[in-house]
Amino acid sequence: ATQVIHNFSAGPAALPQPVRERLAEALAPRPDGQPSVAEISHRGKRFLAIAEELEARLRGLMGVGDDHAVVLLQGGANLQFAWLPMNLARDRTPAYLISGYWGQKALAEARRLGPAEVVGSSADEGFLDLPEMGHLPSECAYLHYTGNETIHGLQFASPPAVAVPVAADLSSEFLSRPYPYADLGLAYAGAQKNLGIAGLTVVLIRRDLLDRIPDDLPRFLDYRTWVQSDSMYNTPATLAWYVALETLRWIEEEGGLAGMAARNQAKAEALYAAIDASDFYTNPVAAHARSLMNIPFWTADEALVAAFVGEAEQAGLPGLKGHRALGGLRASLYNALDMDAVLALVDFMRDFEQRRG
Ligand code: PMP
Repeated sequence: ATQVIHNFSAGPAALPQPVRERLAEALAPRPDGQPSVAEISHRGKRFLAIAEELEARLRGLMGVGDDHAVVLLQGGANLQFAWLPMNLARDRTPAYLISGYWGQKALAEARRLGPAEVVGSSADEGFLDLPEMGHLPSECAYLHYTGNETIHGLQFASPPAVAVPVAADLSSEFLSRPYPYADLGLAYAGAQKNLGIAGLTVVLIRRDLLDRIPDDLPRFLDYRTWVQSDSMYNTPATLAWYVALETLRWIEEEGGLAGMAARNQAKAEALYAAIDASDFYTNPVAAHARSLMNIPFWTADEALVAAFVGEAEQAGLPGLKGHRALGGLRASLYNALDMDAVLALVDFMRDFEQRRG
């Protein structure tokens, strides 16, 4: 029998098994002799049907209507770190709430373009808890936060409640639970974690904010260009769009965002319980701030990390090496992973502790 692989990679990450199968079928020779989905014009009827269903399903799952535009871009969340302040912070000051590595990176990009204020940060405590929020600047462009910090393993339960537009980096928790998307001014997420493969970035933007965009931006970097062209100003990442569509179909088959939340809650609880029950493994993040998606953890002896990663991979559990910024281990439990993956990991952890602890 072939070994079952449970892939804990932080991104690009595991695809749901049915999506992986549909992708393979989509690329196989077709009985009708037509080219595969990766080999057709994005302006043709066949691809436009995919694009239309993709946007409709995205809107449906996010629960957003005409007040918001949904655009599909490339460049990842990293491009949004610059694109967002370029479009919305020309003559107002943006505010940043910093709960980890990615928020710091977003702030650094904003500051290359102009002043940006930190209104809360838990950096001094090593990002073991969420930051308290201070006063927003007057004439505040937006408040940016990172919904889920993929490296430090912290997650906000809900968006901060403020009177200015809220801008969210939801890269590593997109569509993992019901979320008040319609309350957000702007949100962005790369597809390579919960929405398929790399190459596609989803941006949600409240339409009234489009009026604030300066008129002298390169057209490519103006959100309005993408709204007006239905995200087809240039050639989109067509295969990534197709995989995103199959992933959205799968999410709905599995009970939608409520179904995802139930799976994700149960998986995270099982792994945190195993970590907390042992003196060998630790996760130092405050309980109320712990991420359901990315769980960093450490072995009592840091020297055992490499052995853990190598042996886990041999046992069919790849992707557990921690991010280079933090060291240690990390399990990413995106939508595609099921409870069996966590049970296999917990078994492996117990076994490793018995042998090496
Ligand atoms: N923000 C967060 C929260 C992330 O997890 C990541 C990717 N790990 C990024 C931003 C960067 O994403 P990309 O590589 O798509 O630019």
